[in-house]
This record gives sequence, C-alpha cells and structure tokens, in this order.
Amino acid sequence: MLRRPLIAGNWKMYKNRDEAVALAGALKEGMTAKGEAPADALVCPPYPCLQSVGDALQGSPVELGAQNLYYQPEGAFTGEVTAEMLLSVGCSHVIIGHSERRQYFAEDDETVNKKVKRALQAGLVPVICVGEVLDERDKGITEQVVERQLSGGVQGLAAAELAKLVVAYEPVWAIGTGRTATPEQAQEVHAFLRVKLAGLYDQELADKTRILYGGSVKPENVAGLMECPDVDGGLVGGASLKADDFLKLIYYKG
Ligand code: PEP
Repeated sequence: MLRRPLIAGNWKMYKNRDEAVALAGALKEGMTAKGEAPADALVCPPYPCLQSVGDALQGSPVELGAQNLYYQPEGAFTGEVTAEMLLSVGCSHVIIGHSERRQYFAEDDETVNKKVKRALQAGLVPVICVGEVLDERDKGITEQVVERQLSGGVQGLAAAELAKLVVAYEPVWAIGTGRTATPEQAQEVHAFLRVKLAGLYDQELADKTRILYGGSVKPENVAGLMECPDVDGGLVGGASLKADDFLKLIYYKG
C-alpha cells in the first residue's frame, strides 16, 4: 500500500508571533510557487502562535499541529491546554511523547497513552514519538525501548481508532545534535516498528501507518532517508525553522 509521505516541522520553543507568521507566509508562498508536493506538510508552532500561523496558512496545503496537549477534558490545570482548544484554533495533529517531554517533563508511557486517547476521542491525529537514548542503543536494547513506548502509547485502543495514527521514530542521540541515524539504522527500526504494529493489530494498520524519522533531518540527508521503504517522512526540528530548508524537505525529490 502506498503511504503518502509527511514532512512535519516541530518549531519547539522558537519563534514569537510575528516570526512565526512570517515563516508560515514564506512556506505558503514557496508551496504556491513550486506547486504540487510529493509529501504532505505539517507545522507545529508554539501554542500562542497557532491561531495566527493557521490564518497565515489559509489557502495552502500545510496543516497545523500542536506540540502537546493535556488529557483532561477541562478543569483547574494551570498552564495546560485541551484537545478541543487545539481544534478550535485549527489544529488537525498533535505531537505526543516527544523525547523532550519525556526527558524534561517526566512524561511516561502511561501519560502518553492518556494523551493519545484524548487526542483521538477529540478528532486530532496523534504523532506518537518513540526513540532510544544513546546508552540504550549502545546496550543493544533499542528495539525493546521503542516496542515498549509504542505498545504503551497505543494501549487499549482498537485498530479502527488508530486509522490515521502517525508514529515518529526519533533516536534521542540524533535530535538537535547534527548526528543523524544512517538510512540503514533508520530503516531497521522503522521496519521493526511496522512488524510490531502488525502484531499488535493487523497488517492493514501496519501498512497504512506513516512512520516518520526524526533526528537532524536536513536538506543534505533527506533523500537517503526517504529512499528507505519504511521511512514515510520526517519530524523535523532545526531545519523546519527556515522556510528554504523546510521547503527543500517537502520537495525532497528535487
Ligand atoms: C525534533 O524536534 O523532533 C527533532 C528531530 O529535532 P532536530 O531535527 O533538530 O534534530
């Protein structure tokens, strides 16, 4: 089954509103000029910029996502946002379980699972991040780690609910370090994750789930990664902050 690639930009805690709108405008302009892209495009700006970036992207094919959400439907949870709030400003996607959330904000698989469930109930597409730290790779337990994160993240969900699921394999040692996994390393883990999805659910879900690679993806290495049969796009940090670079990733075929 043919999976249409997805290039997703995670803007993290970068860009104030004016900068974010300018970047979104440049992406829209670039895509209008270049025409049909070989990949879907998604940007995930900081919360305060979501509405303005969504407005700036109107009329372009670029979709809008958030970098996180909280799993409660509403309530006294200072500093948090709900799935419905994200929908109300035009989000279609939400990143869940990014390694920076796991590392700095103590998110575990159980929290990730609650957030995935909430996102799906509300109608948002979850982009579930999994990936090992360097020590885990060195110990040879990469597969154990990503399997635990994947199965923990989707626990209790039926295949039908996960129809639009996106998984991002992001080796933590490759995020923001300039050190990219080789296409062979990426392919190995992506193929493993797809087999695990087939085992947890069925081959149909495994075949249609987009598995993105994340970790220092840039214009110079995107083509090699995209050639891998199980790499269905990228989750991109640094290179998503410059319109020219991100456009080169969206138009990775040149
Ligand atoms: C990320 O933020 O998910 C990421 C992969 O960052 P970078 O592309 O900068 O490594």
